[in-house]
Amino acid sequence: MKYRHSFHAGNFADVHKHVTLVALLSAMQRKDKGFLHLDTHAGPGRYDLAGPDTHHGAEARYGATLVLQAPAVQAEELQQYRDAVHHMRRAFDSPQLYPGSPWLAAHRLRPQDRGVCWELLPAECRALERTLGGFRRVRSECGDGYQQLAAVLPPRERRCLLLIDPPYENAIADFDAALAAVASSLQRLSNCVVALWYPIKDDRTLTTWLSRAQRAVAAPTLDLQLWIHARDSRVGLNGSGLLLFNPPYQFDERATVWQAELLELLNKTAHGGNAVRWLNAEAGLDHASA
Ligand code: SAM
Repeated sequence: MKYRHSFHAGNFADVHKHVTLVALLSAMQRKDKGFLHLDTHAGPGRYDLAGPDTHHGAEARYGATLVLQAPAVQAEELQQYRDAVHHMRRAFDSPQLYPGSPWLAAHRLRPQDRGVCWELLPAECRALERTLGGFRRVRSECGDGYQQLAAVLPPRERRCLLLIDPPYENAIADFDAALAAVASSLQRLSNCVVALWYPIKDDRTLTTWLSRAQRAVAAPTLDLQLWIHARDSRVGLNGSGLLLFNPPYQFDERATVWQAELLELLNKTAHGGNAVRWLNAEAGLDHASA
């Protein structure tokens, strides 16, 4: 595997995924009862936007940096995301750090919550252990996140938030494996909230993927999309998508608000757009705007 997330740290897709993750964690914490947070593709958890591994934050310039440098944001979800990034920078006394998904979750978990993160590459895994060193409620493990899911589901809490964020180096295989993991996790705990990130590169492939997801999983499924390049452009990554299975109550309404604001902050090409829509039409109202 050649993929290293550091090259992409803090890019627009990371921002989209991380704002969603922070919003999901907040929504889960509206109830006092604890939950298990799972991250199957964790990465190292921390990135230096001033360092060579991130190409000195090259991709973040069109993502996190725009959101962090905006004089103000309106949506509370965007504010919570900004607070989280600043929190990491203060915690490590390093003003250019950017948090990965494991740290974003770890620093939000309450005493009654717990987490498990998996990372396949040994070097990334050791970095992850260092990042999460101070958090007693989160365990990081080196290994294949898909394979280990069965060992922790269903959890004793009977509540779960599962993030699946594959590299899509082999896009078809990764999407197949991710969908299989979603389906088997929901068989083990039908109310588990699952967030599956996917790339938006071309609409034909995407339409096929989404209809397969719809057929494979019966749970209510919300699709969040944010794109900053024309959807048929050949730049590589045109947009970022998240399939949310069993999303929290009214998550669609809030996502409509914060995604529109996020688009305004990130859309420097005027080809951008966003959509919030239910894959199973009976599950909710559609909200889409280009
Ligand atoms: N979720 C991270 C974040 O938001 O900060 C970024 C994850 S990155 C997109 C994907 C990561 O998954 C890479 O670090 C890669 O090494 C790792 N990986 C790939 N296949 C894996 C597998 N089967 N199990 C666990 N980790 C895997």
